[in-house]
Amino acid sequence: MQASHSHTHNKSEKLFERALKVLPGGVSRNTIFKLPHPDYAEKGQGCYLTDIEGVTRIDFANNMASLIHGHAHPVVTKAIIEQVQKGTAFTMATELEVQYAELLCQRVPAFEKIRFVNSGTEAVMAMLKSARAFTNKAKIAKVEGAYHGAYDYAEVSQTASPTTWGDENKPNSVPVANGTPEGALDDVIVIPYNDAKRALEILEQHKDDIAGILIDPVSHRVGMVPATNEFINALHQWTRQHNALLMFDEVITFRCGYAGAQERYNVAPDLTAMGKMIGGGFPVGAFAGRSDVMQVLDPTQPKVKLPHSGTFSANPVTMAAGLSAMTLFDKAAVEKINALGDFARKEITHVIEQVGIKACVTGTGSMFRIHLKEIAPTNYRQAFNSADESQGIKLLLSHLFEHGIVMINTCSAMLSTVMTQTDILMLTKHLKSGFEVLMVEIPSLKK
Ligand code: PMP
Repeated sequence: MQASHSHTHNKSEKLFERALKVLPGGVSRNTIFKLPHPDYAEKGQGCYLTDIEGVTRIDFANNMASLIHGHAHPVVTKAIIEQVQKGTAFTMATELEVQYAELLCQRVPAFEKIRFVNSGTEAVMAMLKSARAFTNKAKIAKVEGAYHGAYDYAEVSQTASPTTWGDENKPNSVPVANGTPEGALDDVIVIPYNDAKRALEILEQHKDDIAGILIDPVSHRVGMVPATNEFINALHQWTRQHNALLMFDEVITFRCGYAGAQERYNVAPDLTAMGKMIGGGFPVGAFAGRSDVMQVLDPTQPKVKLPHSGTFSANPVTMAAGLSAMTLFDKAAVEKINALGDFARKEITHVIEQVGIKACVTGTGSMFRIHLKEIAPTNYRQAFNSADESQGIKLLLSHLFEHGIVMINTCSAMLSTVMTQTDILMLTKHLKSGFEVLMVEIPSLKK
C-alpha cells in the first residue's frame, strides 16, 4: 500500500480541467464526482486499485458491487480475451448466452426463463414492463427511498427527503428529476419498508390497478437491512389476492446467496432483476422468472405483448465474462465471502464499541454499510442522514481514502472473493483512527 497524506494530485487536476470542457461537471456518472477533482483509475489488480497519481488502495467498492472477484481475475480475463479474439458483437445469437442462461436457471428455483439486457436500469425497466404486459395494469408499488436505476417509474421517491416525503401513512411520490411526467408519479405507489401493516393499507387503496410490487430485499439506500420474512410474506400474499406480481431487484443482492438473497425467504418472487456482478466486470442486466410471465416477450406467440430487443443484449463478451465469473462464484465461494462479511461486521462493531462513537454497521453477506447512528435504521426515514451525519460520513470517507481504503460514497463496502481478513483488519485500523478524528470534529457523535 502506498497511500500517504502527501501525494500529489497534479495529473488528476489537469485531467479534470480537460474533462470539464467536454463532460457535464467533468464526469460521465455523478456517483464518482468529487471535489477538488474525481479520482482517475490507472489499473486494478485483485483487491487493489491504483490511481493515475500512482497511489494504490484496497478497493472495497468494486465498481459499485459489480466486481465479485476483484480486478482482472486471471480466469475471467482469459475468457474475455478468447471471446474478443473471436469477435465482440454479432447480429446473431451465440451458444454462450444459452449456456449462461442454463447456468443461472439451474441455480435459482424461481428462474424458469431469463432474458439478458445491458444494465440494471434496463433489467428493472423491462421487468416492470413485463409485469404490466402480463397483468394489463399500469401501476407499480415500490419502497420509499429504494434505488432501482434510472427508469422514470423505478426512480420515484429515490431521493425523498424530510421536506418532500410527506405522511408516513401515505408517502409522497417524489420525483428525482425536474420535468418528471405527472403520469409517472401517479402510477407509482410508495410504501414504507418492513412495515407490512402500513404497506398493505396503502396497497389496498390501489388494489385494482397495481401490476406488481418492486422490492430490493436488502436495499442499500434504505439502510442495508434485510427485508423481514413477515414483510415479504405479506407482500407476496397481497399480490396473490390481487392478480399482481412480486418482483425482486437483486441487481446487488444476488451476491448474498448461491441463488441470490431470495433463497432466504419462504416465498419466491415472480420476477427478478439482476445486473452488476453477473457481467463479470462488463455492462450487464438480466431479468428472469415465471415462464407464463416471460411469455409476454416470446416472438413465437401469435401476439407479442411486450416486443423487446437491444443491440447489445446478451453481448458475447459480457456472456463470456459473466459465465466465467459466476462459475467461479460457486457455493463454496459464496460461503467464504459471506463469512468474511460476518467477520468485517463483527470487527467494525468492536471498533465502534472501543472508541465510543454513535455509529453502527448494517448489511448481510458480503455487503455492509456504516451509519453514524447509535441505533441501526430499519427504514429509509431512519437511515436518512442528518447534517452532522452527512458531514461525518464525508470526513470518514476522506480519512479512509487518504489511508489507502476506497469505499462506496455512502460508507458502504462490497467485498470481493480475493479479499482476506488482513484487508478487513486494515480497514478497521483506519476506521478506528477515523472515528477518533470524527469525535473531535463533530462532538455530537460522541456517545
Ligand atoms: N438496482 C439496484 C439495486 C442498483 O443498486 C442499481 C445500481 N446501483 C441499479 C438497479 C441500476 O443498475 P445500473 O447502474 O447497472 O443501471
